[in-house]
Amino acid sequence: MNLHTHFLLPFFIALILTKLNLLSWELAVMCGLIGMLIDFDHYLEHMLHQKENRFSLKSAWNNSIKFHRFSQRSFIHHWQGFLILSLLFVIILFFSWEISLILAIGYYSHLFLDYIHLKKEKVLKWKLGNLFMKESRLEIILDIILILGIVILMVI
Ligand SMILES: [Zn+2]
Repeated sequence: MNLHTHFLLPFFIALILTKLNLLSWELAVMCGLIGMLIDFDHYLEHMLHQKENRFSLKSAWNNSIKFHRFSQRSFIHHWQGFLILSLLFVIILFFSWEISLILAIGYYSHLFLDYIHLKKEKVLKWKLGNLFMKESRLEIILDIILILGIVILMVI
């Protein structure tokens, strides 16, 4: 899934919790940012494995979207990271339940979105300057639903 979808889902979930007076809107925004930050491992893996343009964000982006020269997902995208981070969230829970909650929502929503990827879904591809872009129709529909949900939650 794309970064904006990784922001929208946890932000939407956290916004529901702000309406229930469980979280502040600032923490809801942080929750969305955490959902996006999980994919920072793609850039770290790129720096480790790429021979040329090692520090280029553009190169890391295009490898992730189009070329797939190597897997950019680190252990945090797999079951080992799931276990380690889940344990970390439990430990943080004893110090701040709010921080633990937004980390958990950001992380688990990210994994959920990454693993609901359907092989037969139609993908739209285009170029934005030097960056390759792609988004499935299902993701576009999900984005629209999440944006509508967010707008409704902000208005009511
Ligand atoms: Zn991811």
